[in-house]
Amino acid sequence: MDRGLNTRCLHLQETEGKTENYGALSFPIYQTATYAHPGVGRSTGYDYSRLQNPTRDHLERIVAGLEYGKEAFALSTGMAAITLLFELFAPGDHIISESDLYGGSIRLFNNVSLKNQYEFTFLDCATQDIEAAIRPNTKAIYLETPTNPMMNVSDIAKIAEISKKHGLILIVDNTFLSPYFQNPLLLGADVVVHSGTKFLGGHNDTLAGFIVTNRDDIIEKLRFLIKTTGAGLAPFDSWLILRGIKTLGLRMERAQKNAIGLVNWLKKQPAVKAVFYPGLPEHPGHEIMKKQARGFGSMITFNVDTKDHALKILEEVKMIKYAESLGGTETLITYPTTQTHADVPEEIRLQNGITPCTLRLSTGIEDVEDLIAELEKVFATLE
Ligand SMILES: *Cc1c(COP(=O)(O)O)cnc(C)c1O
Repeated sequence: MDRGLNTRCLHLQETEGKTENYGALSFPIYQTATYAHPGVGRSTGYDYSRLQNPTRDHLERIVAGLEYGKEAFALSTGMAAITLLFELFAPGDHIISESDLYGGSIRLFNNVSLKNQYEFTFLDCATQDIEAAIRPNTKAIYLETPTNPMMNVSDIAKIAEISKKHGLILIVDNTFLSPYFQNPLLLGADVVVHSGTKFLGGHNDTLAGFIVTNRDDIIEKLRFLIKTTGAGLAPFDSWLILRGIKTLGLRMERAQKNAIGLVNWLKKQPAVKAVFYPGLPEHPGHEIMKKQARGFGSMITFNVDTKDHALKILEEVKMIKYAESLGGTETLITYPTTQTHADVPEEIRLQNGITPCTLRLSTGIEDVEDLIAELEKVFATLE
């Protein structure tokens, strides 16, 4: 645990000095559904791949290590991870949630969770009073920081204090920064969730999700839930994420550098009315980010002057892809209003600051000069 982050992305203590798997540096893909028992009442530790799989286990140990967690669970998608986690709650439980969330999480809370009779209070957790919203039946606080897409930053350590005082579970979706830039468990959070599809996988080629925690009571419940509901990550997908993690640090640093280049360029464009990037000194969350994270990430949200210009930009981009998702090697641009946040009710969207003029960029690892050259061409088409 005392090694540098890049080293920990590549080397796992327990495999060092051993020559199992013929010394292969790439962990094997155990593509098996079931495992033979050596005898009655005896087991290799593996029974059936819904419960355990060596490739998935290896990935889970690495992700647990990166997030300073005791245990990580690898699920088929980020949404599968969040859905499984919400099985910890029961009808009548109340959850306080950040209001500016990934659209899929809002869709889950407003539909499936509502059917399960969970109650929600949605707040701007960066500015509003969380403690005042706590009720006798409150069980958890759910955060994203920075938020998707508006990049609001909330103070994890401060909220963790409130959460502990009231015996709540503090859950942080750490997808936007990855464990390379932020470790919510070290700041007092109880549970971290990830869409592994994004920075951890990093190549826009596979889906995955993670839950990481230090709490034994939660670990025990999640083990039972994963065995029972069966959304564990498949062996080959586990291997792809393992491979992605090997270059996590390189990709995060490079993508962040590109993001800073694009932010500086965007700020000079007359058609750009606002840039939301916590690395900017004028961003309201800038100081908190400096305190709780090791970087500002590579996600940029910005508003242009008109809806027509926003749509024109999406029409004109070529190398930069007009696509959902984020955190991969390729730069993507999305339109939250009709893509990632289409299922969020319009009044909530507008209240959160997502307007028809809002665009979100996930910077990849291309040469920043080429990204700027492309945007220069695209912006020249705006009259
Ligand atoms: C993409 C995303 C999710 C959902 O993850 P999937 O892997 O697409 O299911 C959850 N939270 C955030 C912040 C995301 O960006």
